[in-house]
Amino acid sequence: MSKPKIGFIGLGIMGRPMSKHLINAGYELVIYDIVEASVTEVAAAGAAVAGSCKEVAEQADVIITMVPDSPDVEAAALGENGIIEGISEGNYYVDMSTIAPSVAVSVGEKMAEKGVLCLDGPVSGGDVGAQNATLSIMVGGEEDVFNTIKPIFDIMGNAVLCGALGSGQIVKACNQVLVAVTIAGVSEALTLGTKAGVDPIKIVKVLGSGLARCGILENRGERMVNGDFDPGFRIRLHYKDLNIIMKTGNDYQVPLPVTSVVHELFNTAMAKGRSELDHSGLLTVLEDLAGIEARTKE
Ligand code: NAD
Repeated sequence: MSKPKIGFIGLGIMGRPMSKHLINAGYELVIYDIVEASVTEVAAAGAAVAGSCKEVAEQADVIITMVPDSPDVEAAALGENGIIEGISEGNYYVDMSTIAPSVAVSVGEKMAEKGVLCLDGPVSGGDVGAQNATLSIMVGGEEDVFNTIKPIFDIMGNAVLCGALGSGQIVKACNQVLVAVTIAGVSEALTLGTKAGVDPIKIVKVLGSGLARCGILENRGERMVNGDFDPGFRIRLHYKDLNIIMKTGNDYQVPLPVTSVVHELFNTAMAKGRSELDHSGLLTVLEDLAGIEARTKE
């Protein structure tokens, strides 16, 4: 395929910049989102707007979804007026949302019955990675399908084929274990240092150049200290990922003792009504536990 027509479904924090990179690279796009207002920005950049997932699938050769969770992918792909009702045999469906590996496989099996070629391609790198087209894309599926779609992935970031369908979601689960545990660690360290009377900005700076340096300290450290928890990646989405991770650990009988504590900390943030904060807002939960007056909580 030289330049296939691309259908892009789900134009939120991630989908908007990702789809705009494809338009800028010269691809023709047709888009859809259940929230009408979400399409405005990408339509203004040159995409055609469809009235349903089915309509997108009727018009495009490669259909990408970037929606929140497993039930949203099932609704967009297999539900009423879903992709499966409009897609043709031999066309491509790539889900880039973060969902349960088991759902990636079951949706792929249903699509395969119609002769559709599927990949799962969840991403890491956050809103900044989406804006800068530097996403790490973890792909599951057949090698020839991956090679066909790779030029499209290349426009949004760096794609690696990890194994069979569903493997991308397994690797993404591993990624989210590390990010969640790191956020909890950075939060605990900043809470300890602050309560013991050290300027937390100094902690962020000095730790950032030693063995403890990490993406969370680098991208979020100063913002955490300043109580700036604008998303970014929302607590509710990371909590969703942790639910997927705990279930996947259960499916494969892999105990996840460290992650389970962090899962409960995210559960606490949800219970306190902080679901829309950036995931680095987990700091506020550790501050509550230590009796520190948090900078910004709501
Ligand atoms: P978001 O909530 O900002 O956007 C999701 C969009 O999907 C919304 O506009 C919503 O209206 C739309 N949508 C939901 N169901 C739909 C359906 N059935 N049909 C059409 N549109 C539908 O979420 P986001 O932050 O862009 O995240 C999208 C996915 O990417 C999630 O799975 C998330 O876990 C993953 N992700 C997000 C980040 C991040 O930093 N935000 C980073 C890596 C991965």
